[in-house]
Amino acid sequence: MDTTDRADALLDRLRKRGYVRTRPVEEALRHVPRDAFVETAGPGDAYRDAPLPIGRGQTISAPHMVAIMLEALQLEPGQKVLEVGTGSGYHAALIGEIVGPKGRVVTLEYETELADRAGHALKQVGASNVQVVQGDGGEGWPKEAPYDRINVTCAAPEIPSPVADQTKVDGLILIPIGRHPSALVRATRTEDGWEHEDLGACAFVPLRGPHGFHD
Ligand code: SAH
Repeated sequence: MDTTDRADALLDRLRKRGYVRTRPVEEALRHVPRDAFVETAGPGDAYRDAPLPIGRGQTISAPHMVAIMLEALQLEPGQKVLEVGTGSGYHAALIGEIVGPKGRVVTLEYETELADRAGHALKQVGASNVQVVQGDGGEGWPKEAPYDRINVTCAAPEIPSPVADQTKVDGLILIPIGRHPSALVRATRTEDGWEHEDLGACAFVPLRGPHGFHD
């Protein structure tokens, strides 16, 4: 099987198992090549439904978890999205594809080396509406707040308050809360406060810095 066949077979499986439910998510997964973001693996490895190491002790989520998050975000063209935890840049590229040329993605990465590498990969695939910023995502990115959607892709003890403050009313945050396992939580901001939904157990690397776990 060549790379395209492997990518198609994976997408087919994600659709049949119900992880991919909507057309925009399916199209984004079809268009963004996962192998452009995972240098350490062979091209075949990029299209197994498994997490992969991306260097600096960090991992890129398994494709089914990426699909779960993309569906849960309820993205629409034109939205402004903040991601905390750029990692390889793959998830940011997918979000960028769905929000389209009128939308925008700011993605924050703690590790300089990963931020640089992700920036190159995003350029290579032509994700021109995605901006990588090196910094502590626990602080969010106030410069461009508020955001329609915020996706934290590392586990935190609770929603960091700066991140909550940077969410639009009617916007939402998707974040893994707690550890071993974490719960994938979708928090929607309303006029009166927040509504929380638990979307199930998941495993993510921990958020670093003052908003992370203290042990
Ligand atoms: N979304 C990524 C995978 C994320 S892995 C992808 O598509 O590849 C989680 C990432 O969060 C790691 O790269 C880790 O370095 C980063 N991270 C951890 N703590 C952080 C923090 N406080 N601010 C920004 N990034 C952080």
